[in-house]
Amino acid sequence: MSIFLSTDLKYLQPYVPGEQPQDRRYIKLNTNESPFPPAPGAVVAAAEQAANLNLYSDPTCLPLKRAAADVYGLAPENVMAGNGSDENLAHIFRAFLTDKGIAFPDITYGFYPVLCSLLGIAHKVVPLRADFSIAVGDYKDVDCPVCIANPNAQTGIYLPPAEVQRLIEQSASRLVIVDEAYIDFGGQSCAPLVNKYKNLIVVQTMSKSRSLAGARVGFAFACAELIADLEAVRASFNPYNINRMSMAAAAASLSDSGYFADCTKKIQLVRQYTAINLNELGFEVLPSMSNFLLARHPAKGGEELYLALKERGILVRHFGDERIKDYIRVSIGTREQMDAFLGAVRAVIAEDV
Ligand code: PMP
Repeated sequence: MSIFLSTDLKYLQPYVPGEQPQDRRYIKLNTNESPFPPAPGAVVAAAEQAANLNLYSDPTCLPLKRAAADVYGLAPENVMAGNGSDENLAHIFRAFLTDKGIAFPDITYGFYPVLCSLLGIAHKVVPLRADFSIAVGDYKDVDCPVCIANPNAQTGIYLPPAEVQRLIEQSASRLVIVDEAYIDFGGQSCAPLVNKYKNLIVVQTMSKSRSLAGARVGFAFACAELIADLEAVRASFNPYNINRMSMAAAAASLSDSGYFADCTKKIQLVRQYTAINLNELGFEVLPSMSNFLLARHPAKGGEELYLALKERGILVRHFGDERIKDYIRVSIGTREQMDAFLGAVRAVIAEDV
């Protein structure tokens, strides 16, 4: 730490993304990326923009906003586009939470507390139930804004829209942020509800279901008033926040609903296949509506399993949080990748017999 660092950042603990080791080739099932390439039209559109990189990108993002709004029957005024949903979350936290604080579940996306410490936001943690589901009733008396991931990060558990509405309706004067990074793998989005509820912001990303993690594009959907506030923050931070190639790739990807449906369907089928096989190997697998599974084995600890799989060239994620330290999180890849993963798991378990 340098002597120049601002005192309020002395204890900042930055977000730790899933590792990207370069020492050998791994089957990468640790960061919930898509195993499929971007839509063909997205690749072409990005390449076309390479020759225009001498020019700034469109600061209004209007064609991209329109494409995203069309998916949910919304208007461009209901959308902010960002450099990944992480950036949108940062703008949301800056715009609406610095004087109010925020509440979120004890097990959820690790970026929320990091943003709180970066921006000096007080946060309250509301424990999930013993089965890791969100108990909406526990938020009844929470008077600061609430953020949930749906499906929830690390667990994959989905909260049905009626329950999300119950959360939103607990107080019209309390903001609810619903992070739908994993909604396209079987869930139903709450984005269409943003005109009904003026206290709702829905966050989505193109990193998972649209195979564009490297492009860094995400959206915030909300009523026009909330989006206008967010756009003011975005323009004060980086008005050209999405580069030309990513903007073109994202818009092209949104127009290819067939490819999207095909990829997300395949992930759901392979997810089911993987869960069944893990169950047969003795694992407890949480019910997931996302592109990953959180699973634990009665005889092998989470960290032990993670390390043994890494040795065999398979990267999964292990979290040290007390409640989930016995689990591994495995992203759903192709059927071939999951067969390699299951084969390695079988070998690791057999070592002890
Ligand atoms: N929200 C959740 C719940 C996530 O798991 C992730 C991915 N790590 C993000 C947001 C961030 O996604 P993006 O790539 O769009 O920044």
